[in-house]
Amino acid sequence: MTTQPTPRSVARGTAAGAVRPAPSALPAATPVGYPRIGPGRELKKAEEAYWAGRIDHAEFARRTRELRRATRARLAELGLDAAAAAPESFSLYDQVLDAALALGIVPDRFASVLAADGAGDQAKADDDVLFALARGTVEQSPLEMTKWFDTNYHYLVPEIGPGTELRLTSTRIVDLFTESLEDGAGTRPVLVGPLTLLLLAKAQDGAPESFDPLDRLDDVVAVYAELLARLAEAGAPWVQLDEPALTADQRLSQAELAEALQRSIGRLAARADRPQLLVTTPYGGIGDLLPTLLATGAEAVHLDLTRGELPTVAQLDGVDTVQLVAGLIEGRSVWRTELPTAAARLAELRRRVTEAGGAADAISVSTSVSLQHVPHTLELETSLSAELVATLAFADEKIIEIVTLAAGGIEPGAVDGPRSVPRAFDGVQVPSVRERAAAVTSADTERVAYEERAEAQRQALGLPDLPTTTIGSFPQVGEVRAARAAHRKGTLDDAGYEQAMKEEIARVITLQEELGLDVLVHGEPERNDMVQYFAENLEGFATTEHGWVQSYGSRCTRPSILFGDVHRPAPITVGWATYAQSLTPRPVKGMLTGPVTILAWSFVRDDQPLGDTAAQVGLALRDEVTDLEAAGISIVQVDEPALRELLPLREVQHADYLDWSVRSFRLATSGVDTATQIHTHLCYSEFNVVVGAIDALNADVTSIESARSRGEILEAIDPGAFPRGIGPGVWDIHSPRVPAAEEIAEQLRRARAVVGPERLWVNPDCGLKTRGYSETEASLRHLVQAVREVRADAEVPAGA
Ligand code: GLN
Ligand code: ZN
Repeated sequence: MTTQPTPRSVARGTAAGAVRPAPSALPAATPVGYPRIGPGRELKKAEEAYWAGRIDHAEFARRTRELRRATRARLAELGLDAAAAAPESFSLYDQVLDAALALGIVPDRFASVLAADGAGDQAKADDDVLFALARGTVEQSPLEMTKWFDTNYHYLVPEIGPGTELRLTSTRIVDLFTESLEDGAGTRPVLVGPLTLLLLAKAQDGAPESFDPLDRLDDVVAVYAELLARLAEAGAPWVQLDEPALTADQRLSQAELAEALQRSIGRLAARADRPQLLVTTPYGGIGDLLPTLLATGAEAVHLDLTRGELPTVAQLDGVDTVQLVAGLIEGRSVWRTELPTAAARLAELRRRVTEAGGAADAISVSTSVSLQHVPHTLELETSLSAELVATLAFADEKIIEIVTLAAGGIEPGAVDGPRSVPRAFDGVQVPSVRERAAAVTSADTERVAYEERAEAQRQALGLPDLPTTTIGSFPQVGEVRAARAAHRKGTLDDAGYEQAMKEEIARVITLQEELGLDVLVHGEPERNDMVQYFAENLEGFATTEHGWVQSYGSRCTRPSILFGDVHRPAPITVGWATYAQSLTPRPVKGMLTGPVTILAWSFVRDDQPLGDTAAQVGLALRDEVTDLEAAGISIVQVDEPALRELLPLREVQHADYLDWSVRSFRLATSGVDTATQIHTHLCYSEFNVVVGAIDALNADVTSIESARSRGEILEAIDPGAFPRGIGPGVWDIHSPRVPAAEEIAEQLRRARAVVGPERLWVNPDCGLKTRGYSETEASLRHLVQAVREVRADAEVPAGA
C-alpha cells in the first residue's frame, strides 16, 4: 500500500464551523445512527412482501427508496439538515453484512449464488445475493447470526479464510450517499470499521487452526481505502467508521488493539483520497485506548459518555487535532435525559478538552450508541399515561435532545446529577414488593441435589432415551394472529377469544401426538411476544402501540417499558397449560420467560440496580411456577435466551452480573418439588462464555442453539463441567430450510458421543413461531425419524 502525506493539516479546521466550504467540521449535533425499519415498519412489510413474491423487485426498490426519502426528510425536520449531520443508517438487512459484502467477504459455499447472473437486472441480483447470505437458500444454510454486543440486535457473522479474495464487490454504500444528495444536503455514510468487522468475523470452515480473521487486516484495510476513495469521489465530506469492538474485552491485549488500530484506522487516515473520518466507539468506554485513537489521524472521534466515563485530561492528549463527538445522550434507553446534568457534563468535557490543548467548540453532541435500539417516535403513542410520557424519549425525541443541548442555553446542573428525568408516580415503588424481596434467604434459591431430582423425575415422567420436544411456540397462523388482534380491539369477546386459542392448542397437541414427540407444548398461541406477554400480565410494565425495534432483518420486537416495582396480580399461563395437559397423557411443558430475558428485552428502569429489578421479576415468576406445579404440570421451562446478551462487555463486571442473573432464575425455579423437572432454553452460539453460569442455573434440562453454528457448540460442552440434561438444537429454525433426517441423525450421533445417551435431548434450536406449518411439520417429522434411527444404533459409550 502506498502511504500518502497526512491530510490532517488540510482536513482540520481550527474549530467547529471555522473552515468553509470544504472541508467542514461535523455539525454541532449528530446522532451515531437512526432506526431503519420505518415508523410504520415499512422495511419489514416491503421485505416480507418481496420474499413472499407478492411484489416484484421494482416495487420493492420503490418502497425502500421511499422509506429512505421519508427518513432523510424527517431527520432534516428535526434539525439534522446540514451536510453530513444525518448518519446514513439504512441497511436492507444488517450493517455487518453490508460491510462484508462490500469487501467480498463471502464464504466459498455461496460461490454459485454470487455467480448467478442478474438476467439484466443488476439491482435485483444484488439484493437477492444479500438475502441469500442472510436467509439461506434451498442448498445453503445462511451466515450464522449472533447478538450485536450486549443488545438484542443480531448481526450476520462474516466468514473469512486465508484465501478469501478481497476486493470491492458492492458499492451499495456509495450509492446510498449519492442518493442522499438527491434528497437534500447529503448524509454521512456509516460503515462498520475494519477492526470490528474482523473481530466479529469467524474463520471460514476449513481454514487452518492457526488462522485468525485478523490476519487479513492489511488486505481488508486496502479495500476500505478503495471504498473511501469512492466515497470521496462521490462528494462525501465525512464518513463514519463504527469501531464498537474497542469498548469490549477482546482476544487481543490492549497493546495489540492499539497496534491494530494504528494499522487500520491510522493507515486509512494517512491517505489523501478520502472523506474526513469519524470513528465511533459505542456500547462502552475505551479507557486508555483514547490517546491512540486520537493519534490515528481520524478527524473526529466519538465516545460513549453514558457507559464510559468522561475522559481525563491525560487521556485527551492529542485532542487538539480532533473533533470530539460526545455521546452524552443515552441512545438505548427510552428515558428522557435530565438535560441540566448532560449540560454540566458537556461543560466539564469542554473544560478538560481546553486544558488538554483542544478547542472548546470542537465538540459535537451525540448519542451514546445508534438509535437503532429504540423506537422511532413517541408521537405515535396514544395510550401511555401522561406522567410516564413526560419521562420518555424515543429516537426522534433523543435527536431533539442532542440538538437542544448543542444549541446551548440549558443551565448546567450538577455533573453527577440524575441522568434521566426522575420518575415518581403510582407503581414506581410498591412497599409489599420491596418487603418480599428483602426477606429472601439463600434457601429460596436451592433445590435438592441433581442426582436425587433426576431419579425422581425419571420415575415420574418415564421418558425414553433421547426424548424429543420443541422449544415452545408453534407457527402463528393467520387465524391466531387475527383472533388476538380482534380481542385486543374488542371485536372478539373473551369467550370467543378463549375458544379460538383452545382450538389452536388442541390442534397443536394433536399434531405433536401424531408426529410422535415425547414432551409436548401448548404452542404459545396467546403470546404476541415471549416478553411482552408477561409484561402485559405483570404489574410494573407499560406496553407501547408502535414501539417497534429491529431484532434482525425484517424481524422486529416491541419491548415493554419496565418503570415500576414488578409483581404478579394473578396466574398468567396456568389455564392454557392445564387445558393442553387435559388433552393428552404425554407430559405438557409449562412455558415461561425468565427474569433476565424479561429485563433484556424490555426497556428497564435506570433508578435502581438491575439485580434488584431482576429479583422482583424472579419472585413474580416463582408464583407462576409453583401454581403450574400445583395444577399438575410436571415440567416447566423457563427460557433465558438473553443470558449471554446482557453479559457485560468487560470481564471485570462479569462476576457481579452472573451472580444476580443466576440468583433471579433460581428464585423463579427453586420453589418446586424434587420430581418437577425444570427446563431452560438459551439461544446463541457462544455457549462457552457463560457455561459456568448455565451450570449455576441448576436447571434439569438445558436446550441451546447449535444448528446454525453447525454443531460447534458441542465442543464447549464438557460433560464433567455440565452434568445435566442438554438439548443441542438440531434444526436451525431461523431459516426456512428443512433439514434431512440423515443430517439430523448425524448431528445427534456426534452429540451423543460428546454428552452420552442419558442426558441428550432432541429439539429444534428455538421456537417455531416465525416458521410456516409446512416446513415445521416436515422438519419435525425428520427429527423424530432421525431419533428413531439413532436410538436403534448399537449402544455408543460417551466420549467414543
Ligand atoms: N419458548 C419460546 C418460543 O418457543 C422461546 C423463544 C426464544 O428462545 N427466543 O417461542
Ligand atoms: Zn431460542
